[in-house]
Amino acid sequence: MDSPNEWWKKPIRFISGSPEEGKIKDPAEIIKVKRSLGFNAEHISLPEDADFFKKYLEEAHKVNFRVLVYFNVHAYQPEFSREHPDWIQRRQDGSMVDDLYGFRVGPCVNSPYREWAFNQIKKIGENFEVDGIFLDGPCYYPRACYCKYCREKFKERFNADLPSWESWGETLWAKFLEFRYDSIAEFLSDCKKKLQEVNPNAIIYMNSSGLWASWPNARDNRRLSKCQHLLGAEGGFIFYTRPSEVPYWKAGATAKLLETQGDGLPTVIFIAGDHKPWDKYPLTESEVRLLIADTVANGANPWYSVQKNIGAAAEMMKFIEEHEYYYEKTTSAAKVGLVWSSKTADFYGSEIPEIDFLPPGLKISRAEMLRNFSDAFYGFYEALLRSHIPFDILDDVSIEGVIPEKYEVIVLPNVACMSDKGVKYVAGFAERGGHVVATFETSLYNEYGIRRNDFALSEHFGSKFAGKILGPYQWDYIYLRKPHPLLEGITLDDIPAPTLGIALHTVNAESIAIFREKAPGRYLSLQPLSKHPAITVNKYGEGLFIHMAGAFDSSYWTHKLREHRLLLSNSVRLKRDACPISLENAPQTLEITFRKKGDCLIIHFVNFTGEMSRPFENILPATNVKVEVYGVNSAKEVRALWSNEKLKFTVNEKSISFTVPKISFYEVVSIE
Ligand SMILES: [Zn+2]
Repeated sequence: MDSPNEWWKKPIRFISGSPEEGKIKDPAEIIKVKRSLGFNAEHISLPEDADFFKKYLEEAHKVNFRVLVYFNVHAYQPEFSREHPDWIQRRQDGSMVDDLYGFRVGPCVNSPYREWAFNQIKKIGENFEVDGIFLDGPCYYPRACYCKYCREKFKERFNADLPSWESWGETLWAKFLEFRYDSIAEFLSDCKKKLQEVNPNAIIYMNSSGLWASWPNARDNRRLSKCQHLLGAEGGFIFYTRPSEVPYWKAGATAKLLETQGDGLPTVIFIAGDHKPWDKYPLTESEVRLLIADTVANGANPWYSVQKNIGAAAEMMKFIEEHEYYYEKTTSAAKVGLVWSSKTADFYGSEIPEIDFLPPGLKISRAEMLRNFSDAFYGFYEALLRSHIPFDILDDVSIEGVIPEKYEVIVLPNVACMSDKGVKYVAGFAERGGHVVATFETSLYNEYGIRRNDFALSEHFGSKFAGKILGPYQWDYIYLRKPHPLLEGITLDDIPAPTLGIALHTVNAESIAIFREKAPGRYLSLQPLSKHPAITVNKYGEGLFIHMAGAFDSSYWTHKLREHRLLLSNSVRLKRDACPISLENAPQTLEITFRKKGDCLIIHFVNFTGEMSRPFENILPATNVKVEVYGVNSAKEVRALWSNEKLKFTVNEKSISFTVPKISFYEVVSIE
């Protein structure tokens, strides 16, 4: 049982700012406004007037409204560097990191800045009955830090000088990356200690990493989860760039990642009400509603920074508050785990999207077409979502231990970097009957990005690496060997080849699809079959390994071909119990998540069906969505919470069926 004081383990709805900012002066009134919008907690900058703040906290606590002080530990005004030049992060050439958000400087957590920050935290904790402190940052920036304190600390730990920036493949570079991760985690851990020394009831957490390579900012969520009370990341900060390039499921995906990496910690998705890069231009109401819906549909708590669109956010918060029971202590009931490999993102390469923690215009040299993990992950994510298969995100740590029994299928989307330990546990999973779907270069590199001679999963794939990458294919084809359940729903015999593939020699594996030879141009007849399979299947123990030598996932992300989506989703559905739901009349962009609480099954429907462009202005409702859920053969009641109606249902020995009359942008169905 949680202690009743552990308020942060109950559903939280954070607000940052207020629509009445500055207009109302009375503390009780300010709190009342925030509560009336459905929020029950906030991040707030420390007010200058101490007496006001004491009164404010008193009023907040009367209505169980929790107040966390926002403390920026990652970017300061240029004057700060003039007062404390040796506290600022340095690049290898000795220059300061001074271009954050255009002009700010970044402090180094290994410098005496550390003690200064601890003192600030202690002062806040000592003087005020705050519920906690939120640290914005801390983090390192690309090309940093080579300050004298980092140099000394590194030398002490590894008896070596800091390596040159981005000396990939060198042991010291891997150590430097670990050192940066550890330095941030150690700083957080000490901040927590300092706060709790003076205010044992206060909590602390920081802005952690989302679905992007974590090395540039040195924030490793697994390390950070051990020394904070909540795990939060900016899953709802959009757009920065062309809106169509930002996954509409960004908030939900980040929530899935944090749920795994928090390992039991409650999680928070930060949603900014502004359409970035403009910090004063609000997101559309549809975008706001969907970001919040996708956050809670995937088990996280929303944090919302106020813009002029507060009405849409408040409508969501009030709904969640009213139905808090269905959001408290639920767990995912998905049976498929899609792996986000930080090791692969760090050491193999992945695209770095624009986020708030990176200075503009920065080129990250690892992002190349060939070595792109994030496109593979995004492509598989999109295919699963559009195929209505509920799934979780797992990470490197999840597969370096016994994989939980609830999973039927593990997907490794070009998880190129795998440790021997990961290989061992994935093999064990298949031996016990699990299915493993792996694409392209999965397991061809060790966890530090050093290439192996063969796939570490070679025996499991039932094939060997034939020493080369195939492609890039432009107008080429693969031939499908029918019939096979993997090819269900595909009428064509030849379909476009994915852009890239990896050459294999099969040993035991069965080939389901074969690359045709590369054509010298367009408008030619089909080329002869090559000797290279594009998809192989191999029995292993009680289970199965499906290896897509063709990079169908990253190609799907680019081209969105129906047949590629079917190959990806069929590879998962090959395991009979992997997907517990089937739908009729549902658009592909209706996301389904499965969560449970005791005997209650909670199905979330997030409708991303817009008008073919982002930002979403209007959402087209889905009507008469017929739902069949397998593995449930009795129920007392089926209720649609948003529509607020009881649904008629039928049960048979294997499933329960019902129809949801209308899903505008969000619906929650509880089966009790
Ligand atoms: Zn430093």
